[in-house]
Amino acid sequence: MGLVNVNEMMANALKGHYAVGAFNINNLEWTKAILETAEELKSPVILEVSEGANKYMTGYKTVAAMVKAMVESMGITVPVALHLDHGTYEGAKACIEAGYTSVMFDGSHLPFDENIEKTKEIVKLAHSKGVSVEAEVGAIGGEEDGVKGRGEVANPKECKIISDLGIDMLAAGIGNIHGPYPANWQGLDFDTLAEIKKTVGDKPLVLHGGTGIPEDQVKKAISLGVCKVNVNTECQQYFTQATRKYFEAGKDLEKKGYDPRNVLKPGFLGIKEIVKIKMEMFGSVGKAN
Ligand SMILES: [Zn+2]
Repeated sequence: MGLVNVNEMMANALKGHYAVGAFNINNLEWTKAILETAEELKSPVILEVSEGANKYMTGYKTVAAMVKAMVESMGITVPVALHLDHGTYEGAKACIEAGYTSVMFDGSHLPFDENIEKTKEIVKLAHSKGVSVEAEVGAIGGEEDGVKGRGEVANPKECKIISDLGIDMLAAGIGNIHGPYPANWQGLDFDTLAEIKKTVGDKPLVLHGGTGIPEDQVKKAISLGVCKVNVNTECQQYFTQATRKYFEAGKDLEKKGYDPRNVLKPGFLGIKEIVKIKMEMFGSVGKAN
């Protein structure tokens, strides 16, 4: 199966009350580890790429070509979407041209009217090429005593307006945070999530910042309409911890331990380990159709 947009996997996830993991990729090893795990577990999967990671890999075209070729060469049969994470207006357009099957246009930092206008334009362009679109809604800050104990919380009315622009997935802050969570984190705001769900109906919701949210909260969010959970930091942590152990054990000094394929292997296996944990947690194992 070639790359697909997210529409069918999101519809199935919504119906089946599970979520599809969206894992950020940084290089070939990352991509291979996630694809291999998805295939072994018969799980649909979304490969996400930030604009920074795209740049690191020399551009959108390189990434699209690599992912397409790997899906084919590895004989992947589960649905795979290639998605731009937190795209700018220009980045989203470039990815649609380069062969991405899904893009996020993040206009959440823009004035609300501008977010509406630009989201509309991206939806029109993306849909003309069969590409799905995730949009993000402007947010209310959550600062207390100068310490951020809660991430941004979206306004349900704004969620409804953006959701009605024809987007395919909606990212709305419910207290989630990118990167590791601070010790004083107050948890996800399920009242807001339930309210958003009421206003947007069957629109698949996206939970960003999946690293470190306790399992019961992730599962509750999924039961309330979250169909896509983004995981980035945790893959990086597993990769780096495994790599550090390799060097600490002096493995690079043994036999062919200096071969980059050997150096990168523990990190590769680390990514596979955490992707499996997440897919099991999200309930997507065995759900590839
Ligand atoms: Zn995010």
